[in-house]
Amino acid sequence: MSRYWNERTASLVPYVPGEQPKDQTYIKLNTNENPYPPSPAVLEAIRSATGDQLRLYPDPTCEDLTRAIAIRYGVSEKEVFVGNGSDEILAFAFAGFFTPGSPILFPDITYSFYPVYAQLYGLDYETIALDESFGVPIEDFRRPNGGIVLPNPNAPTAQAIPLAQIRKLLDSSPDRVVVIDEAYIDFGGESAIGLVGQYPNLLVVQTLSKSRSLAGLRVGFAIGSEELIEGLNRIKNSFNSYTIDRLALAGAIAAIEDNDYFETTRQAVIATRERTVRQLVRLGFNVTDSKANFVFVAHPEKNAADLFAQLKRDGILVRYFNKPRIDNYLRVSIGTDEEMDAFLAAIEKIVA
Ligand code: PMP
Repeated sequence: MSRYWNERTASLVPYVPGEQPKDQTYIKLNTNENPYPPSPAVLEAIRSATGDQLRLYPDPTCEDLTRAIAIRYGVSEKEVFVGNGSDEILAFAFAGFFTPGSPILFPDITYSFYPVYAQLYGLDYETIALDESFGVPIEDFRRPNGGIVLPNPNAPTAQAIPLAQIRKLLDSSPDRVVVIDEAYIDFGGESAIGLVGQYPNLLVVQTLSKSRSLAGLRVGFAIGSEELIEGLNRIKNSFNSYTIDRLALAGAIAAIEDNDYFETTRQAVIATRERTVRQLVRLGFNVTDSKANFVFVAHPEKNAADLFAQLKRDGILVRYFNKPRIDNYLRVSIGTDEEMDAFLAAIEKIVA
């Protein structure tokens, strides 16, 4: 607390990112990063963007990256927005499309940045309870609202929402903006990008942090109607026109264009996830149906906080959320096969 803070700063409850400890080398399965390096083409592109060019501001319109994304996803350039990580795009969407006094809706168990943005922009929100098996009850979103934010797949529960359900939601919410946060969509979910042409109130947000191994570069993108994209650009240009730096622009374009590498690494993550799930089930864990690059697991007889602490002692970091309903679950990111073997061996010893 400081006497220099205004009331809003003083009352903020900021988002707490997963730990990135430096005290020792861990097998890091706690922040859903991709275990594989980015495409070699990304590193090459970043290398060639250094040097004298760094004297110059980056392209504020991100034209080349916007075009690469438009081509990849079969939409027009006017339907694409790029931002400094999808977190920034979500922040812009909250700032630009939602109104104080008209509650936005999102699930009670979900990405913990949503309530933070709501608070930051003075917005009201209501949470919709997930069902007993952590499914998203789409019908319950049919109530007066000032907008809807839905992650698909949801985090940390890992479960996907079928596209038919998303369509149903859009049909029943024609007036307010519906944001579908597809941070993990490339690991098995069905993207709503194909619906953008039919629903001018739909904004689909994706990231290069997960399936393209670029969490460190901070690039995300949104696909939506021209009017939504224009709204996001208004917010961006009233905040910082250069949210994407030159190195990130160069690297992101190369990542989007190297589709073969993307396919290979995402399939590798999916295969490792399926193998990990089978082993965890064999060890007696309850495992949700994951369509993400992480699994959400609980052991009927073991306390999750203890499992978390014991794994950490063994040099393996996973994520434990001390929150109602999920305080006996762990979220475990999918690493390489070797990392998951080490995790499985450690956890087998603990639960045996
Ligand atoms: N949405 C969800 C559901 C996430 O889990 C994350 C990653 N923490 C993000 C968005 C943000 O990702 P980034 O800002 O790295 O694009």
